[in-house]
Amino acid sequence: MSNECLILQTGKNMTIKEAQDAVDKWVKTYGVRYFSELTNMACLTEEVGELARVIARRYGDQSFKKGEKSNLGEEMADILWVLVCLANQTGVDLTEELNKSFEKKTCRDAHRHLENPKLKA
Ligand SMILES: [Mg+2]
Repeated sequence: MSNECLILQTGKNMTIKEAQDAVDKWVKTYGVRYFSELTNMACLTEEVGELARVIARRYGDQSFKKGEKSNLGEEMADILWVLVCLANQTGVDLTEELNKSFEKKTCRDAHRHLENPKLKA
C-alpha cells in the first residue's frame, strides 16, 4: 500500500460522524463526485444482494463455489459505505437518526421482546 493510500485511512474507533466525514473526503478526493442518489440506491441494493449471497452460502443451504470467499464483513462494509454516501448527499446526520431510532425502538419495544416466549431459551 502506497503512502497516498494511507492518507484517508481512519482509526478503528471511528464515530459515525467521522465515518460520514471520511467518506465525504474520499469521494471528493478520489471519486470526483457522488454518484446520483438513484445510482447509489441501485448500488446499495446490489451490495445487499452480495451480502445475501454470502449469508446464503455461510448459513444457508448453498455452498461456496470454488474460489469464492466468505467475505461477510467486507460486504457489510460495502453496504455501510453506500449508505453513508446516500446520507451525505441527502443531508442526513446518521448519528442523530440512529439516536432517534434507539429512542423509537426502546419506547415501542421496551417489553415486547422481553415478553416474547419464542426468544427465551
Ligand atoms: Mg460488495
